[in-house]
Amino acid sequence: MGQCPACKKKFVINHGKIHYIGGLFALKTAGDLYQCRCCHLFFRHPYLSESMLKKAYESIDIGSWFYHDREDFRLARRVIDLACEKGDILDIGCFRGDFLYSLPKKHAYYGIEPSPDAREDAKAKGICLIAETIQELDNNDMKFDVITMLDVIEHLPDPYAALQKVTKSLKPKGVLIIATGNTNALPWRIMRLNYWYYFSEHVSFFNKKWFQWICKKMNLEILQVQKFSHFDKSIFIRLRQLLEAAVYALLNSCNSQKIFYRILIKIYPFNRAKTWKEAPKTNAWKDHILVVLRKNS
Ligand SMILES: [Zn+2]
Repeated sequence: MGQCPACKKKFVINHGKIHYIGGLFALKTAGDLYQCRCCHLFFRHPYLSESMLKKAYESIDIGSWFYHDREDFRLARRVIDLACEKGDILDIGCFRGDFLYSLPKKHAYYGIEPSPDAREDAKAKGICLIAETIQELDNNDMKFDVITMLDVIEHLPDPYAALQKVTKSLKPKGVLIIATGNTNALPWRIMRLNYWYYFSEHVSFFNKKWFQWICKKMNLEILQVQKFSHFDKSIFIRLRQLLEAAVYALLNSCNSQKIFYRILIKIYPFNRAKTWKEAPKTNAWKDHILVVLRKNS
């Protein structure tokens, strides 16, 4: 892989093979994790082709995702309350329409969703489905006051091309709200190849610097970047998760043939970590970001 899918530059670093953890659909290989030195995107390669990916999403079971009242929903609702008195709101990857349905009834709601079963559920909630994929936005002249992409952008193999289309569909001064994982979160940096977030459906991974880069490329400005967790827990649980991650990462970085490793695995907690079948999860950390972008007029 010589080229970044976003900026198309060849300044990419290969971090090595991603630990396979499965997900909504199977992959032949978990692929390698790459980092672009130019635009700061992290990405998985190789990955499914566009047509294979569309097929995979069309066939997923709509009970696969449990939509409780998530933290990103709450944060996005607050942004919409402040940004828009009454307007047209588009949710990309709206799935069953749960997020839009949780908003006040004063707005008009639109969705983009590839899963036929989920589309039916969204329609039943009064949401107007305008497309199955972002590519179809090219054939739609509608402009929106607010566009949301909540846990969606990490599913897109070419996020830059997608955001170009999305930005064109915003009204001047319109607001784009994106929630996704943050590669700059401390536990993610410790567990670079073993992070709990590498589900098969996640292909692109982001950080604040990438959003600053796209703002320079597109007519956007960052209004807000807020860290959050989908599984917020006490400081004690967060510290325990971080410690487990550090122990696991240190053990995995040692050569098992060397004397240092043989001494280490006799000492607590490394003697325990040696028996762990899976990498520890650090999902109580605020390892996601909600990014609010405004289109300049
Ligand atoms: Zn790049």
